[in-house]
Amino acid sequence: MNQPIAINFPDNIKLTIKREDLLHPHISGNKFRKLKYNILEAQKQGRSAILTFGGAFSNHIAATAAAGKEYGFATTGVIRGEELVDKIGDNPTLSFARDCGMVLKFVSRDVYRNKTEAVFIENLKAEFGDFYLVPEGGTNALAVKGCEEILTPEDAVFTHVACAVGTGGTISGIIKSAKLHQRVLGFPALKGAGLLDDICKFAPESNWELVEDYHFGGYGKVNEELVLFINDFLDKTGIPLDPVYTGKLFFGVIDLIYKGYFPQGSDILLIHTGGLQGIAGMNRELLRKKLPIIKIRDNV
Ligand SMILES: *Cc1c(COP(=O)(O)O)cnc(C)c1O
Repeated sequence: MNQPIAINFPDNIKLTIKREDLLHPHISGNKFRKLKYNILEAQKQGRSAILTFGGAFSNHIAATAAAGKEYGFATTGVIRGEELVDKIGDNPTLSFARDCGMVLKFVSRDVYRNKTEAVFIENLKAEFGDFYLVPEGGTNALAVKGCEEILTPEDAVFTHVACAVGTGGTISGIIKSAKLHQRVLGFPALKGAGLLDDICKFAPESNWELVEDYHFGGYGKVNEELVLFINDFLDKTGIPLDPVYTGKLFFGVIDLIYKGYFPQGSDILLIHTGGLQGIAGMNRELLRKKLPIIKIRDNV
C-alpha cells in the first residue's frame, strides 16, 4: 500500500511511503519478502526445520520465528552473545522468538564469526539435525527474488526509490525491479560495511547509489535527535518508524530534501521495511541512558 505524505516540502517535492510494515503483524516488511521463497524452497525440499543467525534485537530472528510457527517449521536461532543466555526474559525480541517456539543457541562473538564456515554448519547439523539454512539477515538469491516484488508496475511513476540497507538483499531486489529512469537510493544503517560488492553480486544494474551519511554512528546506534525525529514524524503522519533502519532512512531523505539534493518536482517513494518490533528493546536501552524514548502508536 502506498501512502502519500501531506507535508509541504520545498521545490514541489512529493513523498510517498510504501507501507511494507503492514504486510503481516509479525513477519515484518522486508523480512516477509525475504523469507517467502525460502519457505517455499524448504517445503519443496521436504525440510521440517529452519536454522538462522542473528543479534539480540534482530528483526530477522523475530520474523523467522513467527514464520516457523505460522508455516509449521521447527526453528533454531543462533544468537550472537553468550551473555544473553540467562537474559531472554529481559529481551523482547528473544522472548518473542522463544514464545513462537524457536530454540535459541547462544554463541560468543568469536564463534559467531564462523557462521558461514562449513565445519560450523556441520556441527550445528550434528546438534540440531537436518535443517534448511537461512543466512544472517536472510539474504540469499531467493530473498532477492522476493524483494523484487516490493515494487509494482504502478510504482514506475516515481523518480526516486529510497530504502534502508543492512546486508543489501532488499535494495538488490528493488534495483532489479526498478525502471531505468528511476534512481534507487540506499541508506546503510551501519558504518563502512563494504556493501557495494554484495549488492553488485545480486544486482549488476547501475541506476543506484548508497548514501552513507545517515548511519548515526553505526548499527543500532541512536541519538536524541533521531528519537525526537521519529516521534515528530509519528505525530505529523501517524506512521511509526523503527530506530535501526527506517528512522535513519526517513531522517536522511528529509534532510537531503531540505539541503537541495533532489531536483525540483522529484516524486520520491520511501520503502517502509518494518522493524517496529525493535522499538521495545531500544526503549529499554534509552531509558537506561536517560534519553527520551520512542513513542509507540497506542500511547499517542
Ligand atoms: C533487515 C532490515 C533492513 C535491511 O535489509 P537488508 O536486506 O539486510 O539490506 C531494512 N529495514 C528493516 C526494517 C529491516 O528489518
